[in-house]
Formats: sequence, C-alpha cells, structure tokens
Amino acid sequence: MTTLIAVGAQWGDEGKGKLVDWLAPQAQLVVRFQGGNNAGHTLVVEGVQTVLHVVPAGVLNPGTVNLIGGGVVVDPAVLLGELDQLKERGALRDPSRVRVSGRAHLILPWHTALDKAREEAARGKAIGTTGRGIGPAYEDKVARRGIRVADLLRPDALAEAIHRVAEQKNFELEGYHKWEPIDPDALVEQCSEWGRALEPYVDHTERILDHALRDGKHVLFEGAQGTFLDIDHGTYPYVTSSNCVAGAACAGAGIGPTGIDRVLGITKAYTTRVGGGPFPTEETGELGEKLRSLGSEFGATTGRARRCGWLDAVMLREAATVNGFTQLAVNKLDVLSGMPELRICTAYKIGGKVTEEFPMTLAEIEQAEPIYETLPGWTEDLTGAREYDELPGDTRRYVERIEALVNVPVEILSIGPGRDQTISRAEPFRPRG
Ligand code: GDP
Repeated sequence: MTTLIAVGAQWGDEGKGKLVDWLAPQAQLVVRFQGGNNAGHTLVVEGVQTVLHVVPAGVLNPGTVNLIGGGVVVDPAVLLGELDQLKERGALRDPSRVRVSGRAHLILPWHTALDKAREEAARGKAIGTTGRGIGPAYEDKVARRGIRVADLLRPDALAEAIHRVAEQKNFELEGYHKWEPIDPDALVEQCSEWGRALEPYVDHTERILDHALRDGKHVLFEGAQGTFLDIDHGTYPYVTSSNCVAGAACAGAGIGPTGIDRVLGITKAYTTRVGGGPFPTEETGELGEKLRSLGSEFGATTGRARRCGWLDAVMLREAATVNGFTQLAVNKLDVLSGMPELRICTAYKIGGKVTEEFPMTLAEIEQAEPIYETLPGWTEDLTGAREYDELPGDTRRYVERIEALVNVPVEILSIGPGRDQTISRAEPFRPRG
C-alpha cells in the first residue's frame, strides 16, 4: 500500500487533472480534499476532452472509486450537473464510484452572489476569484454557521438552518451590496431536491478511505489550485480560501500524517497565474503572448487568459519545502519546443539584495526582480516521445537543471495533453525508501 498526494507547485493549472487521470489506474481510490468547483481539470482521453470541476479526475478509470472529502466545498447543482454529464457519456455506470462526504460544506446561492457582489465592489483591488462562492462558503464553515452535505438529508433541520443563515446573508446582500435577496423558502425547496438527487452518493468517505488503507490499496490524493494559492503559504491575499498544500490532504480527507508515503509536486515547464497578485517572472510582452498561445493558457473554469512567464526555481524550492515533495512532475514541456533559449529564475533581487529564498511578505514578492540562468532551447517536437532517452539532449538538460535547482527528482514528464503523452522515470507508487 502506498499513499501519494499530488499537488500543484505553482499557482494552479499545472495540469494536475491530466496526471491524476494518468496515475489513477494504479490506485484504487482517488480523493479530493480541498477547494471547490473553482478547480477546472481538463482531461483528454482518446482525443475526447472532459472538464471536471468537483468530481475527482480518477473518474474516467472504471476501476477507481472517487471520494470527495470533507475538506471540499460542494455546490450541489454543479456536482449533480457533472455527474449527469458523466452518466450520459457512459463514464459513470456505477454511482458507487463517486462518494461525497456528508461533512463537506455546501456552496449555496448566497455564497455565489456574495462572491460576485464583493469582487464587483472591490473593483481595482479585486482578488480575481472565479466567482463560484468558494471563499464565502469557507468563511461560513469557519464561522460555524455552514450547512453541510449531510444536512441535505435532514429536511427539518435544514429548513431551520437555512432560515437562520438567510437573515444574515440577505442583510449583507441587500443592505450592503444592494443585490437581490435569496428567498429562504425557495432555497429550502431547492435543497430538498438536491438532497434527494445526491442521497445515493453521500457516504462516510473517511471510513471508505480507512478500509482501503487497511486492505493495502494504493490511494491517490488529488490537490486543487496550487501551493502559491494556499491560504497560509500563498501570495496572500491573492490566494484561494483553503489550504492546498499536501498537509491539507490529512485534514480534508481524514487520514493521519503517518499514513502518507509520497508527495508529488506538479509544475509546468514555465509559470502561469490567473487573477491578481505578484508574479516575479511574468512576461507581459511578446514572449508571454507566445507562451499563452502555444500553451493554450486560458482557464478551464472561467476562460480567462492566464498570465505567463519563465519557470521560477525560487518558488519551486519553497513549494518543495512546504509540501515535502518526494518527486516532481514537469508538465507541458512540449510547449517550449522552438524557443531559441530558455530561462529559469534561480534567485531574486529585492531592494538591491540577492536572495535564493522565497520572501515572507507580499511587498517583497512584488519588488522581486528575477535573476535568470539561460539554457539552450530545442526545436524538436516532443509529443511523440514515450521514453526519457527519446527526448533531445537539451530537453533533458533543462529537466535535469530543474532537478538540481529544486533538489527533488523529476520522475514524470508530460509532453502533450493526451493520457499517453506521459513519460515516467520511476514507479510513482513505490514505497518510501
Ligand atoms: P489543472 O487544474 O492543474 O488540472 O490544469 P488545467 O486542466 O486547468 O490546465 C492544464 C491544461 O493543459 C489542460 O488543458 C490540459 O489538457 C493541458 N495539458 C496538460 N498537460 C499537458 C502537456 O504536457 N502538454 C500540453 N500541451 N498540454 C497539457
């Protein structure tokens, strides 16, 4: 039995979905542990594209059971829509392959409305949230007034909770933002409907996980967003409202730290970021545009153009530290084909001082000037390679330089969006040596 946590090493969109789908056949369980439908994983299997927002990316593997842990916030309408789509396509014949923790908190219509109203009111200072209500739902969880998936199955308690919370939500929506209030009676009705539809999926996911571990199964934990969007370790306040680092898998899925064997950090071969906030290696000119178009860097959830720049080894080292990476995956290497030369940021200059460490404060990150090392590019198309040795020498040199700078072995390389466009240099689920 090996447990592997896969998390983003940058600002999300690293291609975690593709890798989780690729790793899933080796695991019996795939577990989402944080975030909500602000995640957007794009999978391409046999040329067919599937975009998932809540359901774990192991779902396209018929042998995998997919758990949505208690640390996730769930928009019932989005989850049901995704399940329907998967069923229509014949990708989810057995509903027991998707299980939702009764402890997961709900994203309700007032959360989405507040998210949008607040971003609108913040104008120039907006965080650039996806507007899906994730932040407001986590706020209610922490304020101990959240409504959970299991509550959908208890109509009387549900109606009481909705009426109680509605008073406070509508006060903010109507009184402060001048938005339409939410009708609590209509919401009770809607929630009862959602409850009936979700009942076959609601389960004690923590027990399922525990049994799988006792039975010696491989388990894969699927992170959403990325290390620098983590509420504690990210570029606060330009972050998401949950912990996305590997440690969050323990709390969000219900497993002790002693149960974790491996942590896979997933990075692109360059860097992207969506929304506001500092980005030391950002390229705003022609080069950024080139990376955006070659890498199709537009969000799966919002369609927003992603900001693009060179790979930042200072960030990756910080990510390796706060997550405890045992191995790295470098994705989208194919996108760099044809670049005459490549740059990797190895240190920052902040206020005249050079540092190799990721700074503590937002102000310092904003001031950071990247110091680059230049490596030769390659012109070959990488998308057909299946073995590490088939890659051009300069591609291998780039990969090996990343390993040396981050001090973590690069064990997986992705050279195209397809499931088969993946090169593995080591067995991902091997026991920790
Ligand atoms: P996630 O949220 O981390 O799963 O990332 P997204 O799905 O938002 O973004 C990754 C995008 O890159 C998707 O459109 C993938 O199909 C695509 N992708 C993943 N790996 C590769 C790769 O190695 N090469 C190319 N060209 N595209 C990739």
